[in-house]
Order: sequence, then C-alpha cells, then structure tokens
Amino acid sequence: MGKCKGLHMFLLIASLVLLLAACGQDAGSGEADSSKSGDKEEGKLRIGLSVSDLTLERWQHDRDFFVKKAEELGAEVVVQSANGDESKQLSQIQNMLSQDLDALVIIAINSDALSPVVDKAKEEGIPVLAYDRLVNGSDIDAYVSFDNVQVGEMQAEYLVEKTPAGKYFLMGGSPTDNNAKMFREGQMNIIQPLVDSGDIEIVGDQWAKGWDANEALKIMENALTANKNDIDAVVASNDNTAGGAIQALDAQGLAGKTVISGQDADLAGVQRVAEGTQTMTVYKPIKAIAEKSAEVAVQLAKGEKITSDTTVNNGKIDVSFIKLDPIKVGKENIMDTVIKDEFHSYDDVYKNVPEDERP
Ligand code: BGC
Repeated sequence: MGKCKGLHMFLLIASLVLLLAACGQDAGSGEADSSKSGDKEEGKLRIGLSVSDLTLERWQHDRDFFVKKAEELGAEVVVQSANGDESKQLSQIQNMLSQDLDALVIIAINSDALSPVVDKAKEEGIPVLAYDRLVNGSDIDAYVSFDNVQVGEMQAEYLVEKTPAGKYFLMGGSPTDNNAKMFREGQMNIIQPLVDSGDIEIVGDQWAKGWDANEALKIMENALTANKNDIDAVVASNDNTAGGAIQALDAQGLAGKTVISGQDADLAGVQRVAEGTQTMTVYKPIKAIAEKSAEVAVQLAKGEKITSDTTVNNGKIDVSFIKLDPIKVGKENIMDTVIKDEFHSYDDVYKNVPEDERP
C-alpha cells in the first residue's frame, strides 16, 4: 500500500513537471507560440509574425534575427508557426488579429490562399508585410525578399559550368510557394537555351510538396529508376530537398558524381558542399532579410508608407519590393561567405572533412 502511494505521488509530480515544462515552451523549433498575451506594454508596438514552418532550420534563424531587431526597435513580437499546415496558418493569423497588433508579417505557406486573413487585417487597419514569399491577390503593404529569379539563375549557372551538357533532372520546391516558381523561372533562363541547342536533355520535372526532404528522396529514387541511374545533374531548389535527393543518389553510388544545387546555406547543406556531395548552395544572408523586415514592420506599425525602387505585381496591386542580393556558394568560397559572416562556424562546417583536406 505504502509503495503504491509512493508511486502515485511520483507519477503526480512527474506529470506536474511535464505540464510545467510544456507551458514554458517557447518558439523553439516546434509549434511556436511566443504570444505576449494580454495588454500591450504602454507605448509599445506589437507585431505578429506568422511563420510557415519552424521545423525547417532556415526559418529558425529568420525568427531569431527578426525578433531581436524588432525588440531593439521597441516592438514586441507575437510569433506563431504553422509547421507547414496551410489551414493552421489561416487560423493562427485570425487569432493573432484579435491581439491588438500594429502590423502583421507573414511567411506564407500558400502564397495564393491568404487573402481572407489579409483582407481582414486590412479592414482592421493592420498593415501587412509579406516576408520572403509574396502573398498574392491581396492588398499587402510591402514585400521583402531576395531576388528569387536570380537565386534560380545562380543554381543553374553553377551546375551548367560544371556540367555543360547531359541529362538534367528538375526538382522544384513546394508548388504552393510563389518563390518556388520564381526559382524555376531563373533556372530555366539559363537552362532553356541549352535545351534548345541540344546540349541538355531534361529527363524529369517534379515538385516536392512542402519542400519536404522525404518527398524529394522518393522523387529522386523514382527518377533514378526510370532513367537507369543515368542522370548527370539535379537542379534542386533548396538544401532540404537536395538533402533528400542526395540520399537517393548516395544509395546508387552517385553522390559527388551527379552535380546538384541547393539553397539556404543550411548547416547540413554547407557540410555537404564541403564534403563534395552537394555541388553548391545559395546563401541568402538571413540576418539581412530578417533585420530589414523588422525595420519595415516597425515603420508600418508606426503608420508610415513604404516605398522602394522595385515593385512586383501580386495579381491585385503593384507591391513595394525590397529586394536583397543572394550569394552563390561552392566549395571554393565557403570561408569567404558563410564562415566569414559567422552564419556557421568553421568547426561545424568541416566536422566531417579530414583535417588535411580542410582550407
Ligand atoms: C525560401 C527558401 C526555403 C524554402 C523552404 C522558400 O520560400 O525562399 O529559402 O528553402 O522556402 O522553406
């Protein structure tokens, strides 16, 4: 009996500890919710940041830099991550709109599905900033991103330089992400002339739902089977999908032989570039986009209008587009880019490279 009581007590305490731990969870990598609930601090601006998917490494960096900068500028930030679930993003935004926001920042999952909540925000006088991914068909106030067509061009240029002729497989990103289409546009700007001249043959073209690595793995496995492993180049649109594709290439002894692109300079991606299984990545200084977006969001929250040299049409209006420059990264310039910027450390990047082969 005494033993039983002790066990009950232990279980009770253990569940209390778990419960407290769960309550204290912040916007780590999972289902983020750093909501500052309740009333705003006197004189503070409040910005809502709706993140597409904090389970992907890239967006954790974005969130961290954004929140830090916005706080420095005197705003507080409510962060929510929809973890890739489109309808969750809609309901999270709806919920945020009841939290006395001064501006709303959206990293869209589906660029075409957000007009209901954006329209509602605008009705309530809350300005909206599209972060990295355009929000189509609604009256947004500004768009901050990299030159996404240029990202696609960089990917294809790098591969074409290494492998100017041969069989190319196109691995697109999420079909609902406007950026994925822009990357493809850039890639084809470079590849199409070589297809026309007969140097390059496109042996397949697929899009990885949700930018998911497993999806990319399956797509690549099927493509390799269908082509009897005869693929010289894979135009992958980001590091996450490249990672999945490289797993499939590796299983066929092709990792490091078939050239393959990426994007984001994710740690795993840069490590693969250093090790030679991924040919390149595109580094988009996240600090730059996050800090610029925080500045713009604070300006919008203060009621200021945003103007820029470039605009982009989102199907409804011409949106002020604050465009940042991406950087091509191959084995030869890892040191001068991501490491110099302290985006990743030397030790992390070269972890699996024998010491005598490191720069
Ligand atoms: C971003 C990429 C990212 C991808 C998946 C795109 O919209 O521009 O940097 O890899 O989403 O998260």
